[in-house]
Amino acid sequence: SEQVFRKIIAHAKEYGFVFPSSEIYDGLQAVYDYGQYGAELKNNIKRLWWQSMTQLNENVVGIDAAIFMHPLTWKASGHVDSFSDPMIDNRDSKKRYRADNLIEDKADAYEAEGQPERAATLRSRMNALLSAEDLTGVRDLILEEGITCPLSGTANWTEVRQFNLMFSTQMGSVADEASEIYLRPETAQGIFVNFLNVQKTGRMKIPFGIAQIGKAFRNEIVARQFIFRMREFEQMEMQYFIRPGEEMNWYEHWKETRLRWHRALGLPESKLRYHDHEKLAHYANAAVDIEFEFPFGFKEIEGIHSRTDFDLKNHQELSRKKLQYFDEEIKESYIPYVVETSVGADRLFLAVLCQAYTEETVEDGEKTKERTYLKLHPALAPVKAAILPLVRKDGLPEKAQAIYDDLKLDFKVIYEEKAAIGKRYTRQDLIGTPFCIAVDYQTLEDNTVTIRHRDTTEQERVPIAELRDRIGRAVSF
Ligand code: ATP
Repeated sequence: SEQVFRKIIAHAKEYGFVFPSSEIYDGLQAVYDYGQYGAELKNNIKRLWWQSMTQLNENVVGIDAAIFMHPLTWKASGHVDSFSDPMIDNRDSKKRYRADNLIEDKADAYEAEGQPERAATLRSRMNALLSAEDLTGVRDLILEEGITCPLSGTANWTEVRQFNLMFSTQMGSVADEASEIYLRPETAQGIFVNFLNVQKTGRMKIPFGIAQIGKAFRNEIVARQFIFRMREFEQMEMQYFIRPGEEMNWYEHWKETRLRWHRALGLPESKLRYHDHEKLAHYANAAVDIEFEFPFGFKEIEGIHSRTDFDLKNHQELSRKKLQYFDEEIKESYIPYVVETSVGADRLFLAVLCQAYTEETVEDGEKTKERTYLKLHPALAPVKAAILPLVRKDGLPEKAQAIYDDLKLDFKVIYEEKAAIGKRYTRQDLIGTPFCIAVDYQTLEDNTVTIRHRDTTEQERVPIAELRDRIGRAVSF
């Protein structure tokens, strides 16, 4: 599966989905660019999320807040004081690691060796030390376990330090402490500080939600696994404001709703699971991850957190602005509680891509051959249909072009006339185009075309007049 993952990464680059950032300068660690098909796929993911949130829920509205926020925001949210990971360096290799990852890997190794109790003990000792912020203890544990650097093979470790994950920069031209601002590490805070603006201008009644899609930045200590963990990424978050005391019901509601949504995208039930948090983040009173089985194992794609009134209360305290809501029904003012759903657009993109990547052996007359294609949900596919004239003469290109010009008003379609038809089918398979529409001599006589279906490679004859309807039904979500 490590090998499959390498193939998927290569495929993403070769067919215009994901490129390393600034590649001509040998790239920038854990930063990536989306290519022509990747951008379409990612936009489709974001659009479906946005619609599911703001269109299917009458009480959820969407906003678009700035990346830069007043520095006190991050004081109130707890990010200045506690958004950090324990970091350790190996003096011989000069490599930097997350101390908790090193211990986690050791625990995994115990598990693989058939010593699950030893693994569990190690994990709970680590969690206890981290909760107590006992960094010396964490280092002692690493030494006691004889954990060595994978690169140098030595245990010549530095002390463990907390490393804050927020990127900071200066606003304006004067570099003093007061002008230091952060690139937001999560989109949520842009929603919290706008809670009353939206509630009042939209005359929203609790329960209601505010959704947002946007960039977030984290200076991750180690960035691994392609676009799974990036330093610049995109989040799709929804904060649901509720009456205090009702959080567990809403938590369960969103937990189920979000899992169903991932299944609707085409992620199979067998590759999705919940993972309850043992160690809660500084803001949460209940938290669960939705995990997807990537080629490198089950990993988080989305978090559902019950954040209580933690954020609004702290913002109220620091800003000295009342962030309360008057509940007409019970005639009471209170700071609402919040249940949030938070999913990474890039991580979901990776999950979708891993799931779609398909290698098949097909019979081709006497021989068998390999076929690779992306089995994407048509709603997600970067290109919905390719219009292909069989040959480049006798009026077929003009006929195909006319079909293209008509369909492009409603769908992302492409026209292609170069190369043999089989080769053109293959190219569309590789980017996950669900339909290839071939225009041949019969088309000139009876206005029908063949539709070739990506997953089955089967072809059928269809009137041109039916194309819009056929494609439209397939790409609806
Ligand atoms: P992890 O434990 O993997 O670092 P997290 O628990 O810190 O993630 P949250 O703060 O809950 O993540 O963020 C919500 C979602 O944002 C995650 O489920 C993930 O999809 C996405 N996300 C977080 N950090 C990154 C990153 N560095 N690169 C890409 N996506 C990310």
